[in-house]
Amino acid sequence: MSDLYAVFGNPIAHSRSPAIHAAFAAATGEKLCYEAWLAPVDGFAAAIAEFVAAGGRGANVTVPFKEEACCLSSHLSERAARAGAVNTLSFRDGEIFGDNTDGAGLVQDIAGNLVFPLAGRRILLLGAGGAARGVIAPLLAGKPASLHIVNRGADKALVLAGAFADIAAVTAGNFAELAGKSFDLVINATSASLAGESLPLPAGLFAVGALAYDMMYGKGETPFLQQARMQGAERCADGLGMLVEQAAEAFRIWRGRRPETAPVLAELRRQLVS
Ligand code: NDP
Repeated sequence: MSDLYAVFGNPIAHSRSPAIHAAFAAATGEKLCYEAWLAPVDGFAAAIAEFVAAGGRGANVTVPFKEEACCLSSHLSERAARAGAVNTLSFRDGEIFGDNTDGAGLVQDIAGNLVFPLAGRRILLLGAGGAARGVIAPLLAGKPASLHIVNRGADKALVLAGAFADIAAVTAGNFAELAGKSFDLVINATSASLAGESLPLPAGLFAVGALAYDMMYGKGETPFLQQARMQGAERCADGLGMLVEQAAEAFRIWRGRRPETAPVLAELRRQLVS
């Protein structure tokens, strides 16, 4: 019998998680079955209960249920508590363990896959939603020189910066205040690219050798990465690597071993562009 896992979201049909985890299972020889479960928007807890009753061992959680998954967890990892959101659930002995692997996935992709160490870098994080919140503590753990958060509504960015003030001095503001500043790493955690919208980024934002990173990914270059390249960013990367790395971290939590990610990422990239 294979152990049962699933990803929960709404919508969920587009999810690449089943293919990623099937590839990890094949490569590691772990016997598991990973499905996509569509939960009703007002029925996440009931869907999880049904899954656990069916023998589910663990689950990934995506939009719009990450905050609800946090509330549902009887135990939270420190990073999940910091993020206020859970993307990885483990079910053991009648208890629900919540974790958040998004930040670890982002950092592994940037520092590991893209060989762009965070130490000493000036980082700009665009956006103050759930994805931004989930990556702040893992970014700070990389000991950057500074972390600045910008949001359309600066209030939200200021609240977020304050929530991490005990780890390091995080600054925040709005887009207009970016004039005259430059950064080594600019991470887009807004959903502007999803709507095909560009961001009001001033000239000179990207320092020499800067990396522009969009958490979003798609068939072609995202609007943010197009804009960054035009404005002089020397390196550009989308969030496909983050997706695969957060999945690998979830797999490690469940199975005790971290799968190799490079072949899975290469195959996903091939499928995306073909
Ligand atoms: P949220 O809805 O929680 O937050 C959206 C953020 O985007 C807010 O800060 C919002 O600002 C901002 N925003 C939206 N539209 C615009 C715009 N036109 N101009 C400027 N800012 C804008 O979304 P999430 O945080 O959950 O997700 C953000 C992105 O990260 C998505 O593209 C998602 O696909 C991606 N993501 C990728 C992952 C991966 O593994 N690669 C994992 C998780 C997320 P305001 O507060 O002013 O509304």
